[in-house]
Amino acid sequence: MELTYQKKNVYEVADEAQMGRIETFSQKYKDFLTYSKTERDAVKLSVAMAERAGYKPFRFGDALSVGDKRYYNNRGKNLFLFTVGADDIEKTGVRILAAHIDSPRVDLKPVPLYEKAGGAFFKTHYYGGLKKYQWTAIPLALHGVVTLADGTVKDITVGEEETDPVFYISDLLPHLAQKQNERKLAVGIEGEELNLWAGGMPAKNGEKGKGDQQEKDGVKKGVLRILQKKYGIREEDFLSAELTAVPALKPRDVGFDGAYIAAYGHDDKVCAFPALMAQLEYEGKGTTMTVLADKEEIGSEGVTGMQCALFTDLLEEICAARGKNVRAVRAASSCLSADVTSAYDPTFADAFEKNNAAVCSCGVALMKYTGARGKSGASDASAEFMGRVAAKLNQAGVVWQTSELGKVDLGGGGTVAKYIASKNIDTLDVGTPVISMHSPYELISKGDLYHTYLAFRAFFQ
Ligand code: MN
Ligand code: MN
Repeated sequence: MELTYQKKNVYEVADEAQMGRIETFSQKYKDFLTYSKTERDAVKLSVAMAERAGYKPFRFGDALSVGDKRYYNNRGKNLFLFTVGADDIEKTGVRILAAHIDSPRVDLKPVPLYEKAGGAFFKTHYYGGLKKYQWTAIPLALHGVVTLADGTVKDITVGEEETDPVFYISDLLPHLAQKQNERKLAVGIEGEELNLWAGGMPAKNGEKGKGDQQEKDGVKKGVLRILQKKYGIREEDFLSAELTAVPALKPRDVGFDGAYIAAYGHDDKVCAFPALMAQLEYEGKGTTMTVLADKEEIGSEGVTGMQCALFTDLLEEICAARGKNVRAVRAASSCLSADVTSAYDPTFADAFEKNNAAVCSCGVALMKYTGARGKSGASDASAEFMGRVAAKLNQAGVVWQTSELGKVDLGGGGTVAKYIASKNIDTLDVGTPVISMHSPYELISKGDLYHTYLAFRAFFQ
């Protein structure tokens, strides 16, 4: 054993065979990301993958027996997957991975559509912590659902196919930005300036063509006619919709050597995908659960967030089926809160304290605590639990490092960890370091992605 501690670089320690596995896993991850931009997309894809792996849906009241592999689809936005093991869960506990599948984005307001100066626009309300100026002048796709008056729910995805139109938030040209340039960066673009360009051709009276008079709100009506024709939507149906604009960008390798992947939604699909794979591939005798949560970016609230009672309801069902005391099981259980952390960025070195920052390609990051200022709001994992997880990772040859988000008084953040720990379950934050977090196109290292997956597999063993 070395006397001094030093980070290891995944690419330095990986042999040729592992380099191959890193590339193969990265390819699968990019495919997953392409079709999981929103929590609804991610649940749909994950359910299909779970069913292929032999998982069956669980309904409350269903009998459960040893060897069962089940999933619970919560309202299409949050997914629980679990195996029922032969182990005595009052002693071994349930091993839990909890990641989230919602990502920062720009949602449509309930009354979004308006016309101005010959253009049709959507008003938006951003979701999660955005640097708003980053969401202008990039291609955006619309994803979501609209509930019609008769109760039909229409799925909508526009902007992902090469032949689809995209949507667009404008910024002011530099030639006229003298006043805008004096704004602070945080308000360089303000919330009410995030308006989506949604159309520009006026509908003609009765659509008869030549010679017709232009109507009032003709462009808005033109957009509504297209929506009616394609989806049967009237303007009022927007009031019962969840439509969101996400970057219409595909994951791409970055750098001559392809060491990195840039994509929308690494936070937190870069943890959700490895967690899902570890769960689906698990063949051991233990009881395991993977949670793909919604609403993490806005505080884990609501019926699809991690604070919902559904999590403990499902644990209770497993305990009841096995004739176990749920309180004893929770006390023995353990969880990795699988969420990203910030990666040290040498361009913005000032924001980090280098010894305690996660560095790209130095492996999956363990965060004993998150929070802000004096660890406010943190779920501080015990030294004992941290040590137990570290030992497991070392035994499995996982390259890992520790992480603090950044310099102590610069800001902070949180994860779902505290909502699981509050149920008397030992919980540690473990995840992949990310560059440009919460931007429309985030960056991760393929090596870190792969070792995140190895860490989750090791945790289940
Ligand atoms: Mn996250
Ligand atoms: Mn986040």
